[in-house]
Amino acid sequence: MSVLIRNAEVADHTGLDVRIDGTTITEVGRHLTWQRGDEVLDAGGGALLPGFQDHHIHLLGVAAARSSINVGPREVRDRAGLARLLRQASLAAPAGTWLRAVGYHESVAGMLDRHVLDGIVPDRPIRLQHRSGVLWVLNSVALERTGLAGSVAAGFERDEHGSPTGRLWHLDEWLRGAVPAEPDLAGALGRISIELAALGVTGFTDATPMRESDLAFLAATLEAAGVPQSVYAMSQPKLSPSDASGLALGPVKVRLDDAGLPGLHELADLIRLSHSEGRAVAIHCVGRVQCILALGALESAGTPPKGSGLRDRLEHATIVPHELMETARHLGLVIVSQPQMLCERGDRYLEDVDVDDLSALYPLHSLVSSGVPVAFGSDAPYGAADPWAAIRGAMNRQTDSGRTVGATERLGFHQALRGLLGWPDRPDLPRQIDRDAPADLVLLREPLEEVSRCPVPEAVAATIARGHLVYRCANR
Ligand SMILES: [Zn+2]
Repeated sequence: MSVLIRNAEVADHTGLDVRIDGTTITEVGRHLTWQRGDEVLDAGGGALLPGFQDHHIHLLGVAAARSSINVGPREVRDRAGLARLLRQASLAAPAGTWLRAVGYHESVAGMLDRHVLDGIVPDRPIRLQHRSGVLWVLNSVALERTGLAGSVAAGFERDEHGSPTGRLWHLDEWLRGAVPAEPDLAGALGRISIELAALGVTGFTDATPMRESDLAFLAATLEAAGVPQSVYAMSQPKLSPSDASGLALGPVKVRLDDAGLPGLHELADLIRLSHSEGRAVAIHCVGRVQCILALGALESAGTPPKGSGLRDRLEHATIVPHELMETARHLGLVIVSQPQMLCERGDRYLEDVDVDDLSALYPLHSLVSSGVPVAFGSDAPYGAADPWAAIRGAMNRQTDSGRTVGATERLGFHQALRGLLGWPDRPDLPRQIDRDAPADLVLLREPLEEVSRCPVPEAVAATIARGHLVYRCANR
């Protein structure tokens, strides 16, 4: 399929035409001639950009969340509200089926356990996920159904009498084998991918630390869902591209957890091993302690081999102490941040986070001005998957209630936009609209200068992913 885009603004040049053939851009110039079979897209002077890359998302989690009940602080205020929502969902669901709730935070009704859930939904299995993604709480029926009640797995919490509390920490993979698969996961993923195409997203980096079997399952689900975007997948160490079921294999994902942090040498060894296998690392790094540990280990392990083109990454990087920014720069790190969280969770941060840490929370401008590149990922389903929310979050750093978190860390529109324009394997390098570049594009309704004044999803006129026109707004 070939597409001829007419009269677009491309990197500050107005009135350019762009031709796409197959999955690449074949021509960029003025007054290109129409060829038989070309589908014409009149840009009307709107900006044409490389399609947005979500540099950190959990695709299967997003699909599963679609059939889940959201019980986050934005949806429910207190225990009564939580109970009302869960009971309503229970009444609506077929008898005996599982309920899945997500997004919980203890500010709603404290730390939950199986007894609290039994009091709300006693007669069907329910599992409820903390919004951090590290904790599931199951009710008693759910524990029985999984056959896990006698488990001795680390993370399977018990009270002082040895009875299960229903809290399962870091047991996602294990739980996946014990609960029925979500019905129609592929259908949900297909619908979500089209919704995100309408926002201009043409590529995903799945940041789940997948094993070989998880990669195969993701690849099969993407195929069944007909997802038009390209997917770049992180995994556990000791995997090679041939294990990735045809997906492009990204960095080794390293999860840190305050409850059981690895030693510096252990973490450095893992980084060295990954580099020796030709892979960068992407270290989940939340809070000051994790940041200090990650940077110490990266410094001890050394940078990836010269000429490999690999760049190590810090994911989230909620706190980066100023004195460590120079270290991050000289290690060539890329920070993958979630500025939309400032809106979604900012009010809670302003209450919970140490005053000392508030000035360093989700740093953006200070990183960029220290020479540390910043890219954006949504971390959906734990945050909203809307790339425009990330742009606005970086620009205004405003919470739901309109307060500001760290005004000096704001980015301008163009700098914020760059966070979405990098290559999957080099989030720091913006893609360009050139001959032979991939045909992953987003066309905006207006020139960039106009869009910069009001960066909202409605700015998108059309989206092309891997050469296919996957979204076109109604009046184009
Ligand atoms: Zn994540």
